Amino acid sequence: MPLTRKAFLKALAGLAAAGGLSGTAGRRFLDAGQAAGKSQRTRITDIEFAPFDMRLKQTFRTSLGAESVEREILVRLRTADGLVGWGEASPWWVVTSETRETNLALAPDLAAFVRDRDPFTVARILADMDAYTPGNPSIKAAFEMALWDLCGKISGQPVYRLLGGYRDSFPTDATVSLDEPATMASEARRIAGLGFKSLKVKVGEVPEKDIERVAGVREAAGSAIDIRIDGNQGWSPADAVRALRGMEKYRIQFCEQPVPYWDWEGLKHVRESAPIPVMADESVHSPHDAVTAVRMEAVDMINIKLMKSGGILPGLRIAEIAGAADMKCMAGCMGETRVALTAAAHMVAAGASIVYADLDSAILHTEDPVVGGMEIKDGTIHLPDAPGLGLDLVPGFWERIRKAQ
Ligand code: MG
Repeated sequence: MPLTRKAFLKALAGLAAAGGLSGTAGRRFLDAGQAAGKSQRTRITDIEFAPFDMRLKQTFRTSLGAESVEREILVRLRTADGLVGWGEASPWWVVTSETRETNLALAPDLAAFVRDRDPFTVARILADMDAYTPGNPSIKAAFEMALWDLCGKISGQPVYRLLGGYRDSFPTDATVSLDEPATMASEARRIAGLGFKSLKVKVGEVPEKDIERVAGVREAAGSAIDIRIDGNQGWSPADAVRALRGMEKYRIQFCEQPVPYWDWEGLKHVRESAPIPVMADESVHSPHDAVTAVRMEAVDMINIKLMKSGGILPGLRIAEIAGAADMKCMAGCMGETRVALTAAAHMVAAGASIVYADLDSAILHTEDPVVGGMEIKDGTIHLPDAPGLGLDLVPGFWERIRKAQ
């Protein structure tokens, strides 16, 4: 007959009273058991979400297009005993075929899978959401990080420690937007001056011009800085090989997504023919895609983003699949604020195979709605030690966006 939690605690109490568990140690064990029992009774009672726009300081360009405003959603979960969990969706239809509107249309249905649930059943809640509907990963990620925020607050631990606590700080790059070579070179000089040790350079147009871009950035940023590039699907396999061969002398760490997301054979061809390691970004959203990447030996690395994977747990599953195949990962971002960036930072801090980070989107924002959370100092991200995600919203921000909707 299975032992219920109540019977287990009762048996322990009897054991402690009979001297089987020595005085204080036994008491502490019982207290911990009862505290855990209490946390299991925590239920989510209030679920709210609100859209907001985040303007950029300057237009950001990739070979997929340009944008000057991010269209986001904040999710707020509240437990019966008053704890609040925050989450953020940053949907970008170009990559995940979802929009803020599809996320908002689905949010009430997904909220039904969260209401009255115990946040510590996060894996089950995500599985229920995925069984209900595929896709719309950004709003699922928003709910999931808010659940983790609650788990951390209930247990008094930062999320990355609940997930295994592999590291608590790590370097991130900053990204140079696609532009004329001279403009990109001066932007690279400016970013290097801020203390970043690595730069991500957007390319993916005519190979000769892209080579000129990279040459200018290397010259401007100096020899000490790491340079990685992102083709954002802009090249054919043949153009990618030509571009990467031309860039080899500028010491490039790796190239993200040189060819269209569906072209697995093309990725494999570039990997086998070019002198620079290849990383999948738009080709890998889910753990299933990661298995394809490993089976095909199509890439050297994978870029994990919460807005593609639909949460920290599936993101870590990708990292585990890649790590087991001796493949390194990076954690990237769409256009999120420091709410979702902090959630991604907790994932990096728990994922041994996530050795690169590109968590820089908030640098471009005209407003920072977050107090606490992850911070970048001299190109290094530091995780907060506070429970949960370790952040709150700037006073008045939530009320403002709730009122505006
Ligand atoms: Mg990318």
